[in-house]
Amino acid sequence: MSENPSVDSRIASLRDTINEYNTQYYVQDAPSVPDAEYDRLFKELKALEAEHPDLITPDSPTQKVGGAPLSAFDQVTHEVPMLSLDNAFDEASLNAFEKRIGDRLKDHKTLTYSCEPKLDGLAVSILYEDGLLVQAATRGDGQVGENITQNVKTIGNVPLRLKGDNIPARIEVRGEVFMPKAGFDKLNERQRAEGGKVFANPRNAAAGSLRQLDSRITAKRPLMFYCYSLGVVTPEDFALAELHSERLKSLGEWGLPLCPEVSVAEGASGCLDYYHQILEKRDALPYDIDGVVFKVDNIELQQTLGFVARAPRWAIAQKFPAQEEITRLVDVEFQV
Ligand code: NAD
Repeated sequence: MSENPSVDSRIASLRDTINEYNTQYYVQDAPSVPDAEYDRLFKELKALEAEHPDLITPDSPTQKVGGAPLSAFDQVTHEVPMLSLDNAFDEASLNAFEKRIGDRLKDHKTLTYSCEPKLDGLAVSILYEDGLLVQAATRGDGQVGENITQNVKTIGNVPLRLKGDNIPARIEVRGEVFMPKAGFDKLNERQRAEGGKVFANPRNAAAGSLRQLDSRITAKRPLMFYCYSLGVVTPEDFALAELHSERLKSLGEWGLPLCPEVSVAEGASGCLDYYHQILEKRDALPYDIDGVVFKVDNIELQQTLGFVARAPRWAIAQKFPAQEEITRLVDVEFQV
C-alpha cells in the first residue's frame, strides 16, 4: 500500500483491465480494444510502478509475458524462456535505451545493432534434432507454451529438414508466424462467402489459425514464418558466429526463412534512419509490421547486458504510430 489510496486503486484497476485484455488477446485470440489503447494503459502502469517501486508485485502484467497456455494443447516447457521486448515510442526513448546500455557497458565504442522489422504475428519456437523438425511451440507465458508441432509442419516455408552438414545436433530457432496481407484478404473473402467468421486483422488470423486443434484447418491458412533468433543449441560449444546478424545468416544457409528487410546499423542514429526507411516502406510490404526491433549485435555484449523481468536489456522495439484505431473488432474464429 502507498500513502496515496488513489494511486493504489489506479494501479489495481489498470492491472485488472490489462489482465483482462491479455486473456482476450493471448488466450482467446480475440482482442476487444486496439493495441494503441492497450499500450497507453500499459505505459501508464509502468510509469506508476516506476514512481512507486514498492508497489510492484511479481504478478503485475509489467513483470509477465503473454498469457497462460491453453490446456487443450500439450504443454512445452521452454529450455530458454521466451521473453517479450521493451518498447520505445519516440526518439527520446530510443536515445534513453542507448544511454542505459552505454552506462552498463563501460568503455564501449558505438554499438552495432541488428535492425529487424517487428513482424505482427506470434512468436514460435521450432526445435530441430539432427536436422529434423521435431517440435514446435507457442511462447505461451514465456516459460510454458503450447505444442503446435503438427500445425507448424503445415506452414509452406518452414523446412522439415535443415540443409548442410555443419548443423548443431539440437537447435531451437525462434521467429514469427504471420499471415501475409494478400492471404489475409483472400481468407476473409472466403470466410464471408461461406458465412464464416471474419478475422479482425492478420495477427489475429495468424494466431487463430495456428492454435487450431485440427491441423487440416491450419494447412488451409496462408501462414508464413521468418526466424529471428536462436534458443537452445547443443552441443553448447558448437562454433556459432559471434554476431547475431551472422547467426541469422547461418540460419538462412541451413534453409530457414529470414525477413529480407533485416539490416545492421551503427548507434541510435543509424537505428533511427532504419526506422524511417522501414516506416516509409510499411504499406508496400506484403505483411503487417507494428514497428522495428533493434538488438545489440554482439552476442557477448548481449550476455553481459542480460535481462530484466520480461525483456532483454539488449533489445528494444520501436513501435510505429498506430495505423488505425480499430473501431469495431470482429469475432475471431477460434475452434478449440
Ligand atoms: P511485443 O509484441 O511488443 O514484442 C515481443 C514480440 O515481438 C515477440 O514475442 C515476437 O513475437 C515479436 N517480434 C516480431 N518481430 C521480432 C523480431 N524481429 N525479433 C524479436 N521479436 C520479434 O510484445 P508482446 O508481449 O508479444 O505483446 C505486447 C503487445 O501486444 C502490446 O504492445 C500490444 O500492442 C499487443 N497487445 C494488445 C492487446 C489488446 O488487447 N489489444 C493485449 C495484449 C497485447
